[in-house]
Amino acid sequence: MITINNLNFGYQKKNKLFSDLNLSAKPGRIYGLLGKNGSGKTTLLKHVAGLLQPQSGEILLNGKIPQKRTTDVLASYYMIPEEFETPSLNVKTFVKINAPFYPDFNENQFYKYLDEFKINTKQKLSKMSYGQKKKVLISFGIATNTPLLIADEPTNGLDIPSKSTFRKITASSLDENKTIIISTHQVKDIEGIIDTLIVLDNGKIIFNRSLEEVSEKLCFKTVNNPEKNNVLYAERNLTGYDAILKNTEKEYTRINLELLFNSVIESNSKIINEFN
Ligand code: ADP
Repeated sequence: MITINNLNFGYQKKNKLFSDLNLSAKPGRIYGLLGKNGSGKTTLLKHVAGLLQPQSGEILLNGKIPQKRTTDVLASYYMIPEEFETPSLNVKTFVKINAPFYPDFNENQFYKYLDEFKINTKQKLSKMSYGQKKKVLISFGIATNTPLLIADEPTNGLDIPSKSTFRKITASSLDENKTIIISTHQVKDIEGIIDTLIVLDNGKIIFNRSLEEVSEKLCFKTVNNPEKNNVLYAERNLTGYDAILKNTEKEYTRINLELLFNSVIESNSKIINEFN
């Protein structure tokens, strides 16, 4: 369980990025943290991982402060960072050094994921491409089986088949005790696996809803006339308009996450008003 209470932070004192930001995340769910470049996703995740110190406010992971960096709190989460440096070690040695920090690390699971990602485990990490290194870190992170997994832009650098492998193994690793939070600016990469959508814009959480709530309130359809009643947002496609409508007839349509994201970040979003 992540609880963030009244987080205030700015890289420069006079220029605040977060002002009284509040957020909570429960186990058994996959949260998608979406936002344009520079919206504050990495900064927020670094606070959750205890890597940045709030100017005021608090962050609690199951009641414990990650900034204190005690061994029990460090063993309770794994962060797949967007930027990283990898040592000149082969995969086996990397595991030997890092796995002891995570009591539920499962080596078989780790090698199974590497196999799915088609990684040659004999190769040194320093000789791998960015995407290959990322696959090792994703596999390791998921195989730690920590109660919290934080993934910052995990699909950056992955080819299309690997993005789908990432979605598959992430979704399969979820259980009722685990919280997963994935940040991305590539909305399609997390389509179909997230339970809750959190949108960050200029350091503010402008949308935080479960996809169940979204499905209840909204319908996703192709329409010919975007001026029609009930159309809240529309984007032109080749044959008409991809549209978001009020769900007045209790229809349950497939959520178009990219369309939803675009509709939420436009100014004076009708979609946000719909939930208020
Ligand atoms: P995102 O992950 O959504 O792309 P970031 O959290 O990396 O966003 O950045 C949020 C804002 O903070 C941006 O305006 C960025 O330029 C700024 N920023 C990020 N890291 C630093 C830093 N180390 N020093 C100063 N400003 C930073």
